[in-house]
This record gives sequence, structure tokens and C-alpha cells, in this order.
Amino acid sequence: MAKGSVIIVSGPSGVGKGTIVKAVVEKRSDMFLSVSCTTRAPREGEIPGKSYHYISEEEFKKKIEENYFLEWECYVGNYYGTPLSPVLSAMEEGKSTILEIEVGGAFQAKRRYPDAVLVFVVPPSFRELKQRLETRDAGNEVAIAAIEKRMARALEEYEKIKDYDYIIVNDNLEEAIENLETIINAGSLLVKNNKEEIEKIKNN
Ligand code: 5GP
Repeated sequence: MAKGSVIIVSGPSGVGKGTIVKAVVEKRSDMFLSVSCTTRAPREGEIPGKSYHYISEEEFKKKIEENYFLEWECYVGNYYGTPLSPVLSAMEEGKSTILEIEVGGAFQAKRRYPDAVLVFVVPPSFRELKQRLETRDAGNEVAIAAIEKRMARALEEYEKIKDYDYIIVNDNLEEAIENLETIINAGSLLVKNNKEEIEKIKNN
């Protein structure tokens, strides 16, 4: 990916996009993975400050007023937002940023960064997605109660896939990771992302 690029990864809750994104970021030192703020409660195994910054609705609303977010959205009753300043710092360092966010926020971010690449991760089927959510949330009553809402939201978001650049089917995790890397590498080969290099070759 070109320096300072933004890559946005969306897809239904439970599709495994977080696992794919983390695997790619761990392999590369030139990519910054944004940590979002959310008002939802932490899930088992999630780490505050790493998975999300968990804040109250009051704090979240205050941050909206302060223009703290690059984008924010309400998703199934909770707020989610990308802090702007870490993204700006990553860009200054010449790193590319990955945002793992839902569709509404993705389009807000695309308006701010028109060259951002939009990637949509889908499950092999919606039946499989529901099973994954039921397995992931087993024992968590609040999360189980929200599964129908998450499925409805997933179907709504699916209609927006036509406005995305790339699709990755998460059937086989290794392949899905490879596909995301391919997309990132293709971005780094775009002529528009290599203007300096093109000049350097001519002048040497
Ligand atoms: P979950 O509760 O399953 O972690 O996340 C619910 C949805 O919110 C997922 O689609 C996830 O990608 C999205 N999300 C996470 N962080 C952000 C964010 O900062 N902004 C937006 N717009 N969506 C987010």
C-alpha cells in the first residue's frame, strides 16, 4: 500500500474480519490498525485499549462534540467511532491505516479520504454467519439477544456491497488473509501511488 493510504474493511459482525485484519497487520510494520471507541460492553477475551477503548455513552457524545472522531456510527444500540489523531500520526509516519468498521462509517471515512480502498468481507452463507454468532456469543445473554438484530443489520449492509471495491469470502481463513494482502500489495503498485518513484527513476 502506498504510504499514508487508508484501507477500510467492513463486513457483518461475526464474519471474522478482525482475525483477518490482525493477521495481516502482525506481518507488516508499515500498517497501523486503528483502535475504535465503543459504548458496548467488552466481550470475554477482549482487551481494553487493544480490542476497543470502552467508554460511556456520555463520554462518547462529548467526544463527538469535540470532533474527536474521524467517523462514528450507532450500531445495534451502541456507538462506535474511530479516533482521528492516531490516524493522522500514523500518516505522518508514512504508515498506512486499516479501519475495521461498519458500512455507514466506511462511507464517512471514504468522503474524508477519497482514495481509501473499501474491502467487504462476507461469510460463505448467511446460515453459516448465524451459526458463528451463536457459537461466539454462547453463554452471553445480552449478546445472544442481539443476534437477530445483528443478522438484520448484516442483510442491510450486504446491499451496500456494490459501492465497495473488493470482496473477500471468509471460507478459508488462510486464503482470506492472503487475499487481503494481495489487495494491499496491488494498491502499492497503482501508478497514482508511485508518483515520487516514477520521478526518481526518470531523474537517475
Ligand atoms: P462488534 O460489536 O461486533 O465488535 O462491532 C460491531 C460493528 O461495528 C462491526 O461491524 C465493526 O466493524 C463495527 N465497528 C467497530 N469499530 C467501529 C468504528 O470505529 N466505527 C464504525 N463506524 N464501526 C465500527
